[in-house]
Amino acid sequence: KEDADYLISLVRAIPGFPKEGILFRDIMPVLADARGLSILMDALVSNLSIANDEFDAVAGLEARGFLFGPALAERLGKGFIAVRKAGKLPPPTVSESYALEYGEATIEIERNAIREGERVLIVDDLIATGGSASAARDLVISCGGVVAGFSFIMELSGLDGVKALGDYPTSSLLMMP
Ligand code: 5GP
Repeated sequence: KEDADYLISLVRAIPGFPKEGILFRDIMPVLADARGLSILMDALVSNLSIANDEFDAVAGLEARGFLFGPALAERLGKGFIAVRKAGKLPPPTVSESYALEYGEATIEIERNAIREGERVLIVDDLIATGGSASAARDLVISCGGVVAGFSFIMELSGLDGVKALGDYPTSSLLMMP
């Protein structure tokens, strides 16, 4: 509880970024703080929704899922798979497009990054509508992988993003109003 309060105290809320009407939650001050980073990594490990023997690899979403995903994977004894914005990864890749509030986004994964049947934990800093994490889920499945679960640092409550993911074990460290 004290640790959760400390993490929340470090998250910065920026009204009107990146555009009008959005309250952006900035995780960077948590990473910049030695105690915050240590609490964050310990809490991610101990709050995972699945046991260590129930998954084989960690996949993180660009860009903020890259900041702690590999560190988390290393702590758990797993490898890390990058889910990137379109056009960044060398072929062969698999793509998935999804709707944004305005327009569309495409994310990609290297086709051979996931083995047939490999069980993958998907991580990102924040889940809002669940659109990005759902697209990552579909990418893992397209590559022949199995989605073992999801782990987020922050969950925006009231958006039902976790429901959009489907029936998977999911953990969010901090519920943000
Ligand atoms: P969703 O696809 O669930 O609607 O949005 C989540 C994605 O957008 C994540 O990749 C996340 O990094 C980014 N995102 C959306 N809103 C915020 C925010 O307030 N703070 C941060 N750090 N990321 C956000």
